[in-house]
Amino acid sequence: MEHANSSKDNNKKKLLLHICCAPCSTSVILQLSPEYDAYGFFYNPNIDIEQEYKYRKSEMKKIANIYNVPVIYGEYDVEKWRESVKGLEDEPEGARRCEVCFRKRLKKTAQVAMKKGFDLFCTTLTVSPLKNANLINRIGKEIEQETGCIYLESNFKKKDGFKKSVELSKKYNLYRQDYCGCSFSKREVGVGRREK
Ligand code: SF4
Repeated sequence: MEHANSSKDNNKKKLLLHICCAPCSTSVILQLSPEYDAYGFFYNPNIDIEQEYKYRKSEMKKIANIYNVPVIYGEYDVEKWRESVKGLEDEPEGARRCEVCFRKRLKKTAQVAMKKGFDLFCTTLTVSPLKNANLINRIGKEIEQETGCIYLESNFKKKDGFKKSVELSKKYNLYRQDYCGCSFSKREVGVGRREK
């Protein structure tokens, strides 16, 4: 067992980490835990079907248990999510639809963080080499302005963060999905692209 939070220190700042999936969370939790009292927030209404959502959630529970990290599970409402990206269905991955999707998930994370008394928030999304950390950080900072909750900028793919997440996912035999999450991202599969 990794016991990422085994040395809980009350002087550490309390951080709410938005988690996109268990594989991405593996190296990020280990990176944050020495400095922060990290809690996870699994909030991904973007996932195309409930069966897939439940599977990713169960993998997250497995990692939460191995690392001894508390995780809050957000609401799954893909219909509402689809409404929020209406008109952007044909956007390429990484463009405007993803911007809306990132914003929705980060905003909810900040709101939950504020409500539950966290000091700051951030996201695992920047661990993927195919996700734009600058864009994600810009959105995070805008949400900080809107909500007053401090956003921790990150680029977790640095320091071999992504490579470590792949190794840890293998170690714990985690399901590593071959598409980002929404039904539109499935179009990218089959052209050699791997998001997570
Ligand atoms: S490709 Fe991923 S980040 Fe972009 S809209 Fe779909 S689920 Fe969200």
